Amino acid sequence: MHRKDFLKMGGLGLAAINLPKWPIGPATKPIVISTWDSGMPVNAAAWKLLSANGKSVDAVEAGARYIEDTINCCVGIGGYPDRNGIVTLDACIMDEHANCGAVAGVERIKHPISLARRVMESTPHVMLVGQGAQEFALQNGFTLESADLSADAKDAYKKWLEKTHYKPVINIEKKKDNGPFAPHFFDDGSVNHDTMGLVAMDSAGDLSGAVTTSGMAFKIHGRVGDSPIIGAGLFVDNEIGAATSSGLGEEVIRICGTHTVVEYMRHGYSPEDACKKACERIVNRDREKAKTLQVGFLALNKNGEYGAYAIQKGFVISVTSESENQIHEAKFLL
Ligand code: ASP
Repeated sequence: MHRKDFLKMGGLGLAAINLPKWPIGPATKPIVISTWDSGMPVNAAAWKLLSANGKSVDAVEAGARYIEDTINCCVGIGGYPDRNGIVTLDACIMDEHANCGAVAGVERIKHPISLARRVMESTPHVMLVGQGAQEFALQNGFTLESADLSADAKDAYKKWLEKTHYKPVINIEKKKDNGPFAPHFFDDGSVNHDTMGLVAMDSAGDLSGAVTTSGMAFKIHGRVGDSPIIGAGLFVDNEIGAATSSGLGEEVIRICGTHTVVEYMRHGYSPEDACKKACERIVNRDREKAKTLQVGFLALNKNGEYGAYAIQKGFVISVTSESENQIHEAKFLL
C-alpha cells in the first residue's frame, strides 16, 4: 500500500500481503516502531544505533534523516508541494527528559528533523516556523536546497492542477461544498499525504520520538498539521511511554492525539487499547465525518510493549527489535 492512498476508504489492498497477526513479540528493548511499511528501512537506520547501545534520541533522528534523504511523496524536499507549488516541511523530536523541538512550514531544508533537534538543543524555544525557521537553519550551518520540485512531485502537482483548475481563492471557497474538512479532498475524492513517525526505547530504557513530513499534499500554503505539534503528532513521557500518529492531522490536533494516547497508558491501558481509545474519541465526536477520514496511532510503553489502532483499515506499522523485524497491520474501528 502507498501512503498516498491512506485516507481513501477501506479495502486498501493489504489483503494481498501476508502480515503477521497482531500483536506478537514479547516486550523487549531496545526497540523501534514506525509508521507505515516505509518504516522498515527507517527502523534499520535507527537500529544501527540502538543495537550498539546508542541513545534513542539519536536513533530516531537517524531514522527520520534516512527517509528525508529519499524521494518520497510526502516526506522531505522531494515531497509533494502545497497548492502554490511550494514544498513546506514539518518535523519534531522529543527525548526522555521532555526536551522537545519542532519546525513547521520550513522550505528548502533537507533535514528538518535535525533542524528541530537544533531548536531543541540550542534555543530556549520549542517551535520555529516558516521564514524564521529557515533563517535559523542558515545561521546554524544548514544549507539552502533548490526550490525545484522533484520529478515525481512536479508530475503530481501538474496533474492536480489539471484536475482542480486551481484558482487560489475561488477554489478554496468552492471546496467548502464538500464539507468542513474539504481542503484535504481533491475533486476526485482522493487525498495525498504521508508522514514518518517513529518512537524508540534504547537499551537504557529511555524513550524518544521523531516525526517528519511534508504534510498533506496540495494543502493551503501555511497549513500545519499534527506532525510537528508536541502532544498531537508526537508525545514522549519517559515514565509511561511514547506515541505518534499519521492521518488527517486536524482530527489528531482536536484531541491532542498522542498526548491522549500516553495518558490512557498512564491510566493502565495497553498501548493498543490506548490507541483504540484515542481513535474512539475522534469517531464518537462525529461518526459520519469519521467514515470519510483516516487516523492511525502507534504507541510504545515503558515495558517495551507496543500497539497501534486506526479508524479505518489500512494502517500498518514497522517494528524492529532483537526478536522481530516486520510489518504489522493495525486493528481498526470502522
Ligand atoms: N498527519 C499528517 C498531516 O496532517 C499527514 C500524514 O499523516 O501523512 O500533515
